[in-house]
Amino acid sequence: LASRLPKVGTTIFTVMSALAAEKGAVNLGQGFPDFDCDPALVDAVTGAMRAGLNQYPPMTGIPALREAISAKVSALYGHRYDPATDITVTAGATQGILTAILCCVHPGDEVIVIEPVYDSYVPAIDMAGGVPMFVQMEVGPDGYSVPWDRVAAAVTPRTRAIMINSPHNPTGSILRSADLDALAGILRGTNILLISDEVYEHMVYDGQQHESVCRHPELAARAFVISSFGKTYHVTGWKIGYVAAPPPLMAEFRKVHQFNVFTVNTPVQHGIAQYMRDPAPYLQLAGFYQAKRDLFREGLAGSRFKLLPSDGTYFQCVDYSAISSLPEAEFATWLTSEVGVAAIPVSAFYSKPRESGIVRFCFAKKDDTLRQALGRLASL
Ligand code: PMP
Ligand code: GLN
Repeated sequence: LASRLPKVGTTIFTVMSALAAEKGAVNLGQGFPDFDCDPALVDAVTGAMRAGLNQYPPMTGIPALREAISAKVSALYGHRYDPATDITVTAGATQGILTAILCCVHPGDEVIVIEPVYDSYVPAIDMAGGVPMFVQMEVGPDGYSVPWDRVAAAVTPRTRAIMINSPHNPTGSILRSADLDALAGILRGTNILLISDEVYEHMVYDGQQHESVCRHPELAARAFVISSFGKTYHVTGWKIGYVAAPPPLMAEFRKVHQFNVFTVNTPVQHGIAQYMRDPAPYLQLAGFYQAKRDLFREGLAGSRFKLLPSDGTYFQCVDYSAISSLPEAEFATWLTSEVGVAAIPVSAFYSKPRESGIVRFCFAKKDDTLRQALGRLASL
């Protein structure tokens, strides 16, 4: 069979989790919590199942959940999405991203992606027959940043969309208001669409605010905005998220969505809709994860790892060049096998090999897990 995705192998997340399990290492590689979600959320979902809410929901998602999403976005970012026409519940952000790309990228269209790039974007562009155009982030002592002049230079008459991700996986960097202004300047007067992956929207630290595209009407008018309940509610295995976009974009999105998954499982939608009535869980998420980030950073402060900023997400990148000159993938393998802590090489997020001497740790772990990892890492 001729491969649809000849360049794709097993994801680095699966590879490192398998190695961590084989070696008995503390798994700070793949991004997922090692603690459970709020039992009240499980009760809400199982309550919906027991109440017989087990058949197909509407194609776009149950109204109560779309209304709860709309209310949240408007309270946090001051932008109103009509639950009837502008919001669709998806089987996780991954499906939201794929469906957004499939509905707007035609064969030969170019899509600008910023590296390091989350691993599902480029295969999704490939499946649509699009052409990814790569712009690399810059990395300096203050961490990673997007060189907007290089993004502007990558625009051609064939550019169909630009993909952004803030807070950013794997770097932990965030886009600030000035970044979105620069992006708006590039897009003004074009019909280029924006695909904005905001799955870590509730994890922004040190009193900073998440610059959702929804705060910028000019950008929101051309954007698919994507989020994931897996990240927000510690349920990555439930695979549920949403996409919001203005009506003409959402109408096209829904055409693809209905033959992609048709719809997303009913009781989880009801459970989340009920649970979302209380904003506290997502409002408290930044404080919850900031404490874990700080525990992890403080634990590494005396080591030879150089900590890069982590302004958002549940990832901490470290520069290990004072410890080893191994390439990133080999260093991550060594760390997992010999030191007993799994990490993800940032080189896995680049289209062409690029070595920066940086690996990513996930701190969405119990404090005990983080302390156990620190016990192994701190002496390096
Ligand atoms: N985008 C980014 C940046 C992510 O980190 C992830 C999850 N690791 C996803 C999308 C996918 O989210 P989901 O699990 O909801 O499909
Ligand atoms: N997004 C998660 C991470 O970055 C992993 C998701 C996956 O395994 N596909 O670690």
